[in-house]
Amino acid sequence: MSGGDPDGLNPWVDARGRGPQTSLLPAPRPPLEDQVGIRFLGSPVAVRRGPSRGFLAVMALLVAASTAVGGRWWSIEQNVAPPAGYEESATPLGSPPAATMVATGNHAFAAMQPDGIGPVAWSPCRPIHYVVRAEGGPPNGAELIATAVARMSAASGLVFVDDGLTQEAPRLDRDAYEPELYGKRWAPVLVAWSTPDETPSLAGDTVGIGGSAPVTRNGLAVYVTGSVTLDAPDLTGILATPDGTDAALGVITHELGHVVGLDHVDDPAQLMNPRATPSVSTLQQGDLAGLAELGTGACAPHV
Ligand SMILES: [Zn+2]
Repeated sequence: MSGGDPDGLNPWVDARGRGPQTSLLPAPRPPLEDQVGIRFLGSPVAVRRGPSRGFLAVMALLVAASTAVGGRWWSIEQNVAPPAGYEESATPLGSPPAATMVATGNHAFAAMQPDGIGPVAWSPCRPIHYVVRAEGGPPNGAELIATAVARMSAASGLVFVDDGLTQEAPRLDRDAYEPELYGKRWAPVLVAWSTPDETPSLAGDTVGIGGSAPVTRNGLAVYVTGSVTLDAPDLTGILATPDGTDAALGVITHELGHVVGLDHVDDPAQLMNPRATPSVSTLQQGDLAGLAELGTGACAPHV
């Protein structure tokens, strides 16, 4: 991490490159980090510039993988993927509401299709499963997550399924396929309460990390798993402030926005602004417009 432009107008540097993916392997992407932390409700917080720790960690892994047979990426390659088409229906399970289909406003996508036409999205023809590691979270943690998930589903039409609790710890290099834990399907989205001790990327003002992993087959990139890692101490502090519940919900909703496929936009009027705005804790018109498009991706029976 490094210093830099103090006006906070530039996008996050970890909105990384988006070259086309040609393999089935999950593309290792640095998760997006959000620093709306302790001063969330007050004055602006510093925004990191330069490569994030997560980015550097992923790059380090990639370098290691090029020389170490038996390393992580090799393991993924050998482990391949679950059988294609798990729970895939012939038609979308839902659709975005008409109101969000006509929404307009600033939004950006985390990644675009290899042909550059349309964003990378989840298959709307299968549910998005998620698990929660509740340990260390606030007493109302489950309710907060469920509410934020419901917001995502309502805005996108995507169907989410709560698979309950897990003991899986968050990792930057999490496997997209963990059959020993979750069976022969893509690993569910992991929502985990964590600490800066466990997840160094949460150090400082960072209160959450969110993102998803795409695979590409037949020229179509599709998200197959993702994660949200929440800074439990920071969010517990936020929850103790006036309007803290709304603010915490805003953080979790923002991170789930990354999971569904939104990137940051430099617009304080949108929830996907990289820095929190106290008056903006719900999805706004630009956020809704982006989520509506992300809810109308292609079905992916081949993934
Ligand atoms: Zn973010």
